[in-house]
Amino acid sequence: MFTLVLAAFALSGTDVTAGRAGSPRATEPPLASQPAVAPTSEETDTARAVEVPQVVGKTLAEAQVLLSAIGVCVETEEDVAVPADAVGDARVVLGQNPPAGTVLGAGATVRLTVPAAPDTLGRDASAEAVVVIDPGHQSRGDSTPEPVGPGADERKPRVTGGTTGVVTRVPEYEVVLQISTNLKTRLERAGITVVMTRTTNDVNISNSERAAIANEAGADLFVRIHADGNVDSTQAGISTLYPGENRWTGLIAAPSHRAALFVHEAVVVSTGAASRGVVARTDLSGFNWSRVPTLLVECGFLSNPVEDRLLSSPHYQDKLAEGMASGIIAFLNE
Ligand SMILES: [Zn+2]
Repeated sequence: MFTLVLAAFALSGTDVTAGRAGSPRATEPPLASQPAVAPTSEETDTARAVEVPQVVGKTLAEAQVLLSAIGVCVETEEDVAVPADAVGDARVVLGQNPPAGTVLGAGATVRLTVPAAPDTLGRDASAEAVVVIDPGHQSRGDSTPEPVGPGADERKPRVTGGTTGVVTRVPEYEVVLQISTNLKTRLERAGITVVMTRTTNDVNISNSERAAIANEAGADLFVRIHADGNVDSTQAGISTLYPGENRWTGLIAAPSHRAALFVHEAVVVSTGAASRGVVARTDLSGFNWSRVPTLLVECGFLSNPVEDRLLSSPHYQDKLAEGMASGIIAFLNE
């Protein structure tokens, strides 16, 4: 639809350009003929003023045909409150703006309200989405090696203890559990089923076992929450990691990337923290063992005195969880 209208504009643009481009050699005569050209295009505009037909009650496909025939653009908006008994273009138009009878110029837009697609409805925040939250690490690491992915020869420690606040001395596993618990509350308030990989610090759950929890839960998203550390105490900001493509992640790489973009953007906005970007990783066991879309938020640097204090503050934890929740819900409703 939009393409058709663009094409129409492109054509008239081409005509004008051609008239001017064709004129350089015979400079004066074409310029003299310019006034004759202008009224023609005005006439065309007048001729293109169209009355919007009634499309409420028709299928989206029928409405699109009717509206494109008269040269107006169509935008659709899904009403998630209305269950769809049909999919795609077979959905019946529930509303239109502007209403039937309105006179519009060519290229104007008519906005149609249609029922939400069933897959969107199923993922509505109030419906049956499942999110698994993994607060990173635990009070004591376990350096026993485990394969970095199913069938891998390469091994990494089951789970490490994480980093510690440079000023507060608060350990990463404690801070990320607090943030995770806040996020859980927010998602549940939105009607999402939340499964936590751990609710206390004194556990021993390896990275592959955390991914297995997400797989068994059939999670729509597996959200891993960590804090960063660096020898350079000036390093600051939030990065969001997602599985890059490798022998294990082919099916989850793309949806994970989309989820990471949603969550990262929202968290950076809610916290005002510096963005270190969205980063593909192929070396993390927790990603390689996951069969569901997954991401990992590095919420800030415990090695940075300012961010260390922020990460322990309930207010800042609230901002982090708020951003994550809105990014997750946006992804689930996509
Ligand atoms: Zn960590």
